[in-house]
Amino acid sequence: SQDEVRVVEAVEKRLYIDGKWTEAEGGTTFDVVDPSTGELLCAVADATPSDGRAALEAAVAAQPAFAKTSPRERADMLTAAYELLMERVDDLALLMTLEMGKPLAEARGEIAYAAEFFRHFAGEALRIDGGYQTAPAGNARFLITKQPVGPCLLITPWNFPMAMGTRKLGPAIAAGCTSVIKPAHQTPLSMLALMGILAEAGVPAGAVNCITAMDAGGVMEPLIRSGLARKLSFTGSTRVGRILLEQCAEKVLRTSLELGGNAPFLVFEDADLDEAVDGAIAAKMRNMGEACTAANRIFVHASVIDEFGQRLAAKMSALTVGRGTEPDVKVGPLIDEAGLTKVQSLVADAVDRGATVLTGGEVAPGNGYFYPPTVLTGVPRDAAMADQEIFGPVAPLTPFTTEDEALAAANDTEYGLVAYVFTNDLRRALRIAEALETGMVGLNQGVVSNPAAPFGGVKQSGLGREGGSIGIEEFLETKYIGIAMP
Ligand code: ADP
Repeated sequence: SQDEVRVVEAVEKRLYIDGKWTEAEGGTTFDVVDPSTGELLCAVADATPSDGRAALEAAVAAQPAFAKTSPRERADMLTAAYELLMERVDDLALLMTLEMGKPLAEARGEIAYAAEFFRHFAGEALRIDGGYQTAPAGNARFLITKQPVGPCLLITPWNFPMAMGTRKLGPAIAAGCTSVIKPAHQTPLSMLALMGILAEAGVPAGAVNCITAMDAGGVMEPLIRSGLARKLSFTGSTRVGRILLEQCAEKVLRTSLELGGNAPFLVFEDADLDEAVDGAIAAKMRNMGEACTAANRIFVHASVIDEFGQRLAAKMSALTVGRGTEPDVKVGPLIDEAGLTKVQSLVADAVDRGATVLTGGEVAPGNGYFYPPTVLTGVPRDAAMADQEIFGPVAPLTPFTTEDEALAAANDTEYGLVAYVFTNDLRRALRIAEALETGMVGLNQGVVSNPAAPFGGVKQSGLGREGGSIGIEEFLETKYIGIAMP
């Protein structure tokens, strides 16, 4: 449509370095594809390591002045950016749907969620605190203050192309840290659009730089190892997170890692089944299941699993699959061929091992990387999907009989991002919530993400938290000044 052409044409396709739009060295580009058709949307600059270096040097050069801006100035930049995002929500949502595939309604929701990080951290910028304390012996005073960590490298995934950027840029800007951000190659357009908005919002040249690149490792590793940046914040797979943590070790960078998840979703026999089904739809189908918070293993008490499975399958199969730009579509395509193949092979593996398909499971012929909403029941522990992120619209059900068995199954994973618990028994809810080895728990709710709450995981789901009041601490160093007072 004309609107689609217009929003893609309007976005800058070059690197954003030191407040200027710059071609990649040698003018190289890579392609961005619409996952609903497999067709080319446009090409964007493909940064080389030396482009990356230029971006990081710009961030380093801008750091001293940016650290000296007042909290109010930084809050005003974030507030202005929040307002611009909300004013342009329709165009930004369309752009996101085109590059990522999610339905327009979800894309609009993500723009609002993304903007909310800026509004939240505009407030946090004003609340950076410190302390003044008397030493235990009485002969000195402790002055405690917070300073920006310094230039940051920020790496974001394709599944939430805007919100994963603002969740890092919001606290970085609020804290007075400059940065270089690198979006995923599948979805660079939302981030490039955001750069224009930050410039309009008054973020000074060099304070935020953006590089787009096909070879993420080739461009980012030298930047991490250079020691010019003081921090890395990464959202992506546990596999890549491990590699980056090792690279950060060389110069002892501060690290925040939001990695993979394998969320258990527990439905007890005393749960409200309608609420549990709706919660499962929310936890499973948001973003086509392409979320680290997606319910990945659904454990249901044996006495209600048949009823739960039927109701879930009925609701899942009623969801319209199609191009995200079409009205009424609830399920868009997966991000790419590799994503689709992975989901197909995980389902085939589970069925081979004895799982039963209640709905879905068959890819319809045609273009685009579509996978139908699928419910499997009787998924055994040895199915590959019990250990891996499915990242697709597949709900695997497994029965349990005792609370201990459910809890042990839920914790039987190297991941620990989020868990969901459905029960109407308060003591059980709290007992389970405390015993779950996760950074977050949804009690009778299928979505936990909120810019004002601390988001993050334990075990191999990551390090640190984003959002909440803790989110800005990740971008601040504590300095203690000891004062003799004999
Ligand atoms: P996914 O499997 O969801 O694509 P990845 O962890 O591969 O998750 O990607 C998340 C982000 O990390 C993307 O921006 C990607 O380009 C980037 N990335 C992937 N590999 C590396 C790497 N070796 N070094 C730095 N960044 C990487």
